[in-house]
This record gives sequence, C-alpha cells and structure tokens, in this order.
Amino acid sequence: MTRRTRLASRPSAQLPVVVLGAGLTGLSAAYHLERGGHHDYLVLEAEDRVGGLLRTEHVAGFSFDHAIHILYTREEYVSGLIHDLLRDNLGRQRRRSYCHSAGVYTEYPYQTNNFGLPPEVIADNVLGLISARHESLQEGPPEHYEAWLLRTFGRGIADHFMLPYNRKQWAWDLQAMSYDWIEDRVPVPSIRDVLLGALRRPLEATGPNREFWYPRTSGIEALALGFVQHLPRPRLRLSQRVVRVDPARREIALASGERLRYGSLISTLPLGRLVAMLGDAVPPAVVEAARGLLHNTVHTVNVGLRGTTFGPAEPMHWAYYPDADVLFHRISFPHRFSAAMAPPGCASLQAEISESSLRPVDRGDIVRRTLADLVRVGLLTADEILPVERGGRVALTQVVSLDPAYVIYDLHHRRHVRTVKEHLRPLRIQTCGRFGDWEYFNMDHAILAGKQAAEAVPD
Ligand SMILES: Cc1cc2nc3c(=O)[nH]c(=O)nc-3n(C[C@H](O)[C@H](O)[C@H](O)COP(=O)(O)OP(=O)(O)OC[C@H]3O[C@@H](n4cnc5c(N)ncnc54)[C@H](O)[C@@H]3O)c2cc1C
Repeated sequence: MTRRTRLASRPSAQLPVVVLGAGLTGLSAAYHLERGGHHDYLVLEAEDRVGGLLRTEHVAGFSFDHAIHILYTREEYVSGLIHDLLRDNLGRQRRRSYCHSAGVYTEYPYQTNNFGLPPEVIADNVLGLISARHESLQEGPPEHYEAWLLRTFGRGIADHFMLPYNRKQWAWDLQAMSYDWIEDRVPVPSIRDVLLGALRRPLEATGPNREFWYPRTSGIEALALGFVQHLPRPRLRLSQRVVRVDPARREIALASGERLRYGSLISTLPLGRLVAMLGDAVPPAVVEAARGLLHNTVHTVNVGLRGTTFGPAEPMHWAYYPDADVLFHRISFPHRFSAAMAPPGCASLQAEISESSLRPVDRGDIVRRTLADLVRVGLLTADEILPVERGGRVALTQVVSLDPAYVIYDLHHRRHVRTVKEHLRPLRIQTCGRFGDWEYFNMDHAILAGKQAAEAVPD
C-alpha cells in the first residue's frame, strides 16, 4: 500500500463479506449469500457494468456477446436456476455446428462426421484411428496433449483437424500442455462411429451441447442481469477496482484510495493477479507459481451485415476452422441464436482469434484479415466484404478482446494452482470461478463455484 493510499482514507467499518468481481461467479456468490440469509455483503466490480465475460455489446441495432456463449448443463440445480432467472426469455435450440476443412463444411464433431470429405482424407482418418487403437494397447499414458490427440484419434484425424485446430484455439504448444481437463469436452468415438459417420450423413446431433438454451432478448448478458434483479442495489458497487488486499488486516484498497475492511473475502479475480495484490509478504515460491499461471487472449471481431444469406446454405450456429492460413478458429452467427441480435433483414457474425506470447496477432490488421478470410472460407464474396456505402454488405465491424480468455493447461498447471491455493487457504481468502480457480469453467461451473463459496461463509 502506498503512503498516499494510506493517508487517503480511513478504513470502513468491517463488512461481514466482500465479493471481488461481478462476473457470473461473483453474482452467483452474491445471489446465494442473499438466499442464505447473509444480507450484509458488498460486491466490488472494476468495470462500470456487471457480467465480466457475460457482457453483450449493443451497437447500431446489432448485439454481440463477448464470444459465443450457449447455455447447457448436466447440473439439475443450475438448470432450474437458469430457468427461474430467465423464465420466458429462454429459447431452446438444437445445435447446428460445422467444421471447415479440405474446402468443405462437415458436421461437428469432425471425428464422427467425415461424410462429404474427400475420399483420401476419409481413408487417412479411418485407417489412422484403427492403427492408433491397436498401438495404444502397447503404450503407457500419453506425455502431453498432442500425444493424447494422436493416440486417441490417430494420425489422420489429428493432422487433418485436431492438431491444427487446437494449435489455433489454445495459441500454445500442444506438447507443452496436459490433457487432464478434457472430461467430455473432446468426444472420443468408437471405430464403428467413425466408419458410419464417413458413410452417411449424421442421424442426430450428439454430445452435451446438442441442445442448448439462449436468451430470446438482450444476449447472454440477460443471465447476469437475471442475477442482479435479486440483489439490492447498495450491495453492488461498480467502477471499483481493487488494487491491494491485506489479509493480515483484512483490508482491501481500491484504486480510488478508499479502504474497506472485511470479515470474509470471496475473490473471483484471476488467481495470479490476486497474489500480486497481496504485497511483499508472499513467499518467492508462491510468487513464482502465480507467475507461472498461463492464459491466452481471445479477440472477437464482430461483423454486422446487410442481408441474411451466406455462401454455404447450412443454417449454422457456428463453425470451426483448423486451417493455419485462416486467422480465426471459430465463426458464430449471433442472429441465428436469437432474431433480436440483429436488425430485421440483417445478419451478424463473430470471429474468434486466440493470441498468446507464442502466437502473436497483428491487432492493427485483425479486421482486414478476418474479412479477407471470410472470403477464403466461402462465407462471403469479395464484393460482399466491402462497406455498405461502397456497395458491399458490411454495416459495421467491432473488435472486443477478452483477457484472460482460456486458462492454459501447461504441464505445471496443477502444481502452480495447488501452491497458490495452499498459500491462500490459511489467509481465509476463498478464490473461485473460471479465473479464481484457474480452470476451464463453463457458465454452469461458475454458477456452482459462486454458490459453494457463499455457502462456505461462516454464519
Ligand atoms: C471464448 C469463451 C467462450 C465461452 N463460451 C462459453 C459457452 O458457450 N458456454 C458456457 O457455459 N461458458 C462459456 N464460457 C465460459 C464463461 O464465460 C465463464 O465460465 C464465466 O463467464 C466465468 O465467470 P467468472 O465470474 O468466473 O469470471 P469473469 O467473467 O472473468 O468475472 C470476473 C470479474 O472480476 C472483475 N475484476 C477483475 N479484476 C478486478 C479488480 N481488480 N477489481 C474488481 N473487479 C475485478 C472483472 O471485471 C469481471 O467482471 C466461455 C468463455 C470464453 C472465454
């Protein structure tokens, strides 16, 4: 704490509970504190809006989430809560997602939907899988994520889709990543499923997100606002950036110089940033572990378009792009999640581009390259990517960057998280959420993490 900060204010009277961050985890914590009878808490959010990753940008009649956000869960409690919060504003949809490779669009997941790919690619994929299954009987566990992908899918599927796609999405060296986060995130098929998927069109969508929900209006931010409706206004303070946490005094300093005292602290801030706020008393091993927590950045390029047609006739919700020469790894179409996401007679799309120190992106050129690559993948023509005023279809472009976006599971991830959390535990700081736990959390995990933190607050 600087001398100026110390003189700037006296600390407040002690607040029983303080929650840092009003993203989904922080809002869920606050909601469950209310429900648990803790009415004397305060949520501090750095931005002037709640939501964190669950924000939606509204511009010239178009709406764009901070990257594609669909709702699905296996957790009954979370499903019930989402329905209670959004009520009539929740639409159910059947996933329509595709993979673009070898110049064609095939259905997602790539591995079980080879129908339509060139015969040579199908042969590589099927034969590669058969040899991989045979070889895996003789080998020990894979050393890293790349080896896991090769072992699980074989050389064909790995080279044609899995390796190039994952390199783009993670923007990291797959040989330096673990695979203990996979669970059901990457579907592992049988040889029979792959063969059948090469011989005919898919009969039905599979996987945990084959059906999902999405708000009818207001974008995914509607979920964050659904929580806010249940929170008394004075409990939520926006534009309050936390810069320092002193666990010995149980005191927080804000960028404004204000100091607040707390009884219990729930932090949803990125774990490494929280450690940096603790000051000099942190042992070097913990500082080192915190610095070793890796993440990437995702840039979203939002494009508002006149007209509703695209090159491929499939009414896609989103599509994946493994090609290393194409800048983006995923394109989604917000107007197909809800008609309210674009003005009548218009369409919208959103490109996602991952960046890290290993895969730098020329941010000044990101819009131009995205538009050029939309032509390369057959979504739009060279004439269509011109601005409306020059006879094209592009009504607006906007770039929104998410940082952090994905936690990177490098080979030291578990050890680093454990070291940091073991240091924080006796300091009685609960850290939770996608970046508080430093895990690949979806919205349902974030909701549950906030609930658990609220329930662990002593009476
Ligand atoms: C590209 C992408 C796509 C995704 N798609 C899906 C999907 O389709 N389905 C799904 O279920 N999940 C999806 N997710 C995951 C989902 O977004 C997260 O699980 C969830 O939003 C995490 O919420 P959180 O509150 O833990 O973190 P955040 O949303 O990051 O909230 C943290 C909050 O802390 C605030 N903060 C940070 N520093 C300070 C400070 N110093 N002082 C005060 N406040 C501070 C931030 O402003 C932010 O509001 C996706 C995530 C990404 C990145």
